[in-house]
Amino acid sequence: MPHIAFIGLGHMGGPMAANLLKAGHSLSVFDLVPAALEAAVALGATAAPNAVHAVSHADIVISMLPASQHVESLYLGEAALMQAIPGGALLLECSTISPDTARKVHAAAQKRGIAMLDAPVSGGTAGAAAGTLTFIVGGEAATLERARPVLEAMGKNLFHAGAAGAGQVAKIANNMLLAIHMIGTAEALNLGVANGIDPKVLSDIMRVSSGGNWSLEKYNPWPGVMDGVPASRDYAGGFGVDLMLKDLGLAMEAAQASRVATPLGSTARSLYALHSGQGSGQLDFSSIQQLIKRRG
Ligand code: NAD
Repeated sequence: MPHIAFIGLGHMGGPMAANLLKAGHSLSVFDLVPAALEAAVALGATAAPNAVHAVSHADIVISMLPASQHVESLYLGEAALMQAIPGGALLLECSTISPDTARKVHAAAQKRGIAMLDAPVSGGTAGAAAGTLTFIVGGEAATLERARPVLEAMGKNLFHAGAAGAGQVAKIANNMLLAIHMIGTAEALNLGVANGIDPKVLSDIMRVSSGGNWSLEKYNPWPGVMDGVPASRDYAGGFGVDLMLKDLGLAMEAAQASRVATPLGSTARSLYALHSGQGSGQLDFSSIQQLIKRRG
């Protein structure tokens, strides 16, 4: 079985690495946070003292980092990780980053004879834990076939969006829509509750009516309506407000570069910026419900 280096063991990377261990892979892991490393070691991974050590004997390198700047500085900056990855290895970059950064890393990988996919994911922390993530892939179709067994150890659906960077474009469009329907759902629930309807009853009605959507049905933002979602644990864990704000920023950059109007995406970005500015950056993104509060 190929030996894997896994870098970035946060909310998503931690459970993804756990599923690779469960599938029988040997893993060298690295994260800047010691507690994240220790959790992976407890499951059977080997901790590396730095990213260069982690990748030095890897057949496959996987990274799951917060944002473009982390990915760019890790692979192309001072650490120059790209130089340390063995030629012929496979690189799966799973963070949500700008398509341009993804293409830069692709180009550097190609120069070194390293096959790469940008493979951002959808499905959240629950999907990462259950091994049911959706991978949205940019790169060569043949590289996707090579990566398929390892991606299938962490996810259920694999989509080939197109050439290098296309996985990121599709992911950014999806997350802009997610932000918009989360805000719409919070607004509709707030309107109903402020006018005397129980939020669970209203959710049940809208779920089977034309207002039904993923935020309402799978990730309800009103506390107590649904078990096991961040809204029912004070918006802890899940997909952070600041990460959503980052993705909306990426969507706005892409919109500007392609001269496309995204009026609702732009409003969603402003609302998430306001929410983050009020100290909610680390809460789950469904906490936008707190910004859109019941009155009276
Ligand atoms: P996170 O902040 O929980 O984890 C990121 C990890 O990367 C942290 O443990 C951090 O210490 C580590 N890290 C940062 N720089 C590093 C470096 N140079 N070397 C080693 N480790 C480093 O974030 P997350 O929620 O796991 O999200 C990761 C990516 O997945 C983001 O791009 C996010 O947008 C995307 N994503 C998240 C979710 C979600 O529900 N959380 C869903 C889909 C996609």
